[in-house]
Amino acid sequence: MAEIVIRNLRKEFGAFVAVQESTFNVADGEFFMLLGPSGCGKTTTLRMIAGLELPTSGQILLDGKDVAQMRASARDIAFVFQMFALYPHMNVRKNISYPLLSQGMSRRDARSKVEEVARILDIESILDRPVGGLSSGDRQRVALGRAIVRQPKAFLMDEPLGALDAEFRERMAEELRALHDRMGATTIYVTHDQLEAMQMGDKIVVMNHGVVEQWGTPQEIYDRPATMFVANFIGSPPMNFLRFEATLEPGAATARLSGVDIPIPPLETGVSGRELVLGVRPEHVRLGTDGAYRGEVIATEYLGTTQIVTLKSPNGTLRVRAPSGQPVHVGETVSLDFNTATLSLFDAGSGQAMKVDRAAVRAAMKEQSYG
Ligand code: ATP
Repeated sequence: MAEIVIRNLRKEFGAFVAVQESTFNVADGEFFMLLGPSGCGKTTTLRMIAGLELPTSGQILLDGKDVAQMRASARDIAFVFQMFALYPHMNVRKNISYPLLSQGMSRRDARSKVEEVARILDIESILDRPVGGLSSGDRQRVALGRAIVRQPKAFLMDEPLGALDAEFRERMAEELRALHDRMGATTIYVTHDQLEAMQMGDKIVVMNHGVVEQWGTPQEIYDRPATMFVANFIGSPPMNFLRFEATLEPGAATARLSGVDIPIPPLETGVSGRELVLGVRPEHVRLGTDGAYRGEVIATEYLGTTQIVTLKSPNGTLRVRAPSGQPVHVGETVSLDFNTATLSLFDAGSGQAMKVDRAAVRAAMKEQSYG
């Protein structure tokens, strides 16, 4: 078991910077997700932690010891590859025992270790079968077995479920998480799927163009995105962005959008004549008739218990998640009532979240009863 601390980690491939000064902490026993779009530097980060790629600069502290320049074999970290790298000509038992025997463990000890792992993974009945004919789920379990049998300090997984179909993928994700909960081993898991990251992770780091945009619990990242990129990448539909020109005193409780005063979470610092973006999650808008801020319904999408209503407002297009029983018609104009405490504010230029006075937000939450 291990704590992994990443400090200012950087990787250049020639003139191209794949990872820029990444910093995040993975606590002992955590299931930690590395999330971001294709090419953002997830795999490169993971390969540096594994020791398969040398960083250009920065630190990788494994239980306090900097292993950034150490060989992979000296790190005691197991890498579970995207393509299940099994030996097709060997049976399951031999595949799992291979890492133990190559480390010099006796056949007898290796045998009992393999049986212990097979029990955990529920693959005892296939131990003597060749891996060539196994289903992808069983192959996945064997690959995991080979990784966990060594009892490494940590596991690194690069899109391990990427090759599976949706239904099976969900089942394996649950199994993996349950296995983690039984073993409690620190795990770093790469995915580009925000839903998978939210469902499985204790913590998530979101990367974009080699830069760590934010890291924290799924709820922190969903509720208080640090950047517009994170706000847009997490959530389906993503957060809505309403642009407006603002001049606000520190602590101001309303902002004027197209002539309408809208309650906002108070900012710690004031702004003068700057373009801001109000970030609104689709489920934090109530559609009504009485409010002054209004939008025209341009589409509705029925999803069973909810519907997604697309509206044109004076400050941009919004997608709102409304109860499916609520009558909403294309072409009509409705009022939009925002749940103040859940709103985000961003600087339009930098895309960074503005600092909000959280104590004031909590007080406002008590006052505003919102369904
Ligand atoms: P994906 O989900 O598509 O695998 P990723 O987030 O894991 O993406 P990386 O594989 O880490 O991204 O790649 C980050 C960037 O670094 C990409 O632009 C990639 O082309 C580049 N890159 C990775 N390895 C090398 C290499 N050995 N030489 C040059 N460029 C590389």
